[in-house]
Amino acid sequence: MAALETEEFTFLHRHEAPKGTLRQIERVHAPFYVEAVFENIPNHGHVHLDSDTAMNPFSGEAALRAVGGICAAVDAVANGEARNAFCAVRPPGHHAESSAAMGFCLFNNVAVAAEHARAVHGMERVAVVDFDVHHGNGTQTTFFATAICSTGRATSGPAIQGPGMEHETGVFNNIVNVALKPGSGSEEFRRGYAERILPALRNFHPDILLISAGFDAHLRDPLAQIRLQTADFAWVTRELLEVAEKCCRGRVVSTLEGGYDLQALADSTAAHVRALMGH
Ligand SMILES: [Zn+2]
Repeated sequence: MAALETEEFTFLHRHEAPKGTLRQIERVHAPFYVEAVFENIPNHGHVHLDSDTAMNPFSGEAALRAVGGICAAVDAVANGEARNAFCAVRPPGHHAESSAAMGFCLFNNVAVAAEHARAVHGMERVAVVDFDVHHGNGTQTTFFATAICSTGRATSGPAIQGPGMEHETGVFNNIVNVALKPGSGSEEFRRGYAERILPALRNFHPDILLISAGFDAHLRDPLAQIRLQTADFAWVTRELLEVAEKCCRGRVVSTLEGGYDLQALADSTAAHVRALMGH
């Protein structure tokens, strides 16, 4: 948040994220799961949903505002009130599956936003690009058999098997996974986008582009072994904007996913938002 308070960001329009609704969430998540999340919010201390994912007394409201914020951003961009938007939300979302919390995620914010864009704004082709270092398994599972969504991934932890493999292409050839080997850096990342993800995205020709913006592929990040520089996040943002300009009048909504080195997270988020602003 501090990184976005500096003078160059003074002219951004800022909105507090409204609370999302059950109706929005239940386009992606099973009602019994949503109910279980809220029933388990503790009055004090922490409750663990799995070994990574814990909730405190404020987690329910935070999760509702994460979903509501990204849906409001889709509304603003769809209605022409904003050209693009960045949602500085927590918790992240891309690991959450229809009826399971996972990897710090309670609800799949970006998947809910994609369904919101379809249901409320009648958008037929929604693209989700995910450059978090971890595979967006929840997003992939949600849209594995849905022809409207293409989810890109160009970064990887040491994925030997499991979700996120390149042969996982979705029922309608709608998923593109580009797995990078541990130790990969700017060159491999940019090549993955230039050769695989950006062409697929152009070909898909989305009505709106959603970004799962995780900054944990940064070389300073303690949770993974990919070695991106801050400038790589600016580069990929500009490339994605360029596709969006051609396909959908620049309609982009980006939402924060992972990022565990606070300095790298701050610098990369600022670089990403600066690029969204056209600088
Ligand atoms: Zn991550």
